[in-house]
Amino acid sequence: MRQRMAGLGTVVAIGLGSMAVAAFQAPTPPQPPAPKVVEADKIADTLYVLKGGGGNTAMFLTAAGVVLVDTKLPGWGQPLLDKVKTLTDKPVAMVINTHAHYDHTNGQVEFPASVEVVAHANTKRFMEEANPVYGLQNGPQPNIFKEHGGRGMPSRTFTDKLTLGRGAEQIDLYHFGRAHTGGDTYVVFPALGVMHVGDTFPNRDLPIMDKNNGGSGVDFSATLAKAAAVTGVKTIINGHNPTTMTPADVKTYSAFIGEFVAAVQAAKKAGKTVDDVVATWATPAAYTGFNKPQPARVKANAEVIWGETK
Ligand SMILES: [Zn+2]
Repeated sequence: MRQRMAGLGTVVAIGLGSMAVAAFQAPTPPQPPAPKVVEADKIADTLYVLKGGGGNTAMFLTAAGVVLVDTKLPGWGQPLLDKVKTLTDKPVAMVINTHAHYDHTNGQVEFPASVEVVAHANTKRFMEEANPVYGLQNGPQPNIFKEHGGRGMPSRTFTDKLTLGRGAEQIDLYHFGRAHTGGDTYVVFPALGVMHVGDTFPNRDLPIMDKNNGGSGVDFSATLAKAAAVTGVKTIINGHNPTTMTPADVKTYSAFIGEFVAAVQAAKKAGKTVDDVVATWATPAAYTGFNKPQPARVKANAEVIWGETK
């Protein structure tokens, strides 16, 4: 396996070399930007998952208009609105943000000022602060909301639980504590038995534990276990996974993170280093179908857990 990888590396290196030569001999004309394609998966007559351009967006139809959960990367607000228009005549009335990260919130600066934005109070603060995502971004980040005169900033916040609407249109927002960030919101559509969990469970890989935005490694597993225990939920919309999952998958993921945290803490107690963890940690065999974590992610998360462990 190691030898085969080395072989692939050589092929890539040669490929890059000849690309560089080709670029020097005949500069390629500027390429048009890739089209921004939003794909829709229908979950129910009143609920879709809109994919592409960052985090998964949930689109919920109510009599008063469309509710969108998360709004994708910068530049994806208008493509998102365009996609909504192909599915309903109703205008977007409300945005709910699962957390502050740019790939879940920045599209909404392109939305009309009439759209109400609802988020956890901490998420509003992190959107104001535009802190770099720990382990992913370095140094000061542009504040897209300030650049747009505050457009897209939350106008309504909550701390523990907030219920919006009633009957078939009810939406429950929960905050169970620190995990991916310090303002994670679980968005439940109780009439449909669906919950959007944002990046507390992005996909089957190690999550970001964003301590710059209130996230925690040590608290993550227990926080997520509370989300897995919400009654009546059958379907999970993940932050980035291309298909839906189940509450059983959330439980498994919570256990996976718990095992990772325990391994990091055991390493610290045994006098080892973060680099030792990066060199030795592998996804336990029980977690089938999980991605092989990137060493940079293992390192960043181990650093967060290290700092939280006495
Ligand atoms: Zn995120």
